[in-house]
Amino acid sequence: MKLTCNECKNEVGLTLHSDLAVGDMVECQMCGITLEIMTIDEDTVKAEIAEEGK
Ligand SMILES: [Zn+2]
Repeated sequence: MKLTCNECKNEVGLTLHSDLAVGDMVECQMCGITLEIMTIDEDTVKAEIAEEGK
């Protein structure tokens, strides 16, 4: 699976998230932002930036 960070456009490593599901939170290792998984379509994962303090 591949997820591109909305903020820094780097690829976010998903090796620690082998059971990734929609609604999960993933932290970008490059810029530290938290991304919420929106859709998982085959190998393409899309996410939105999660608001802090929710
Ligand atoms: Zn990033």
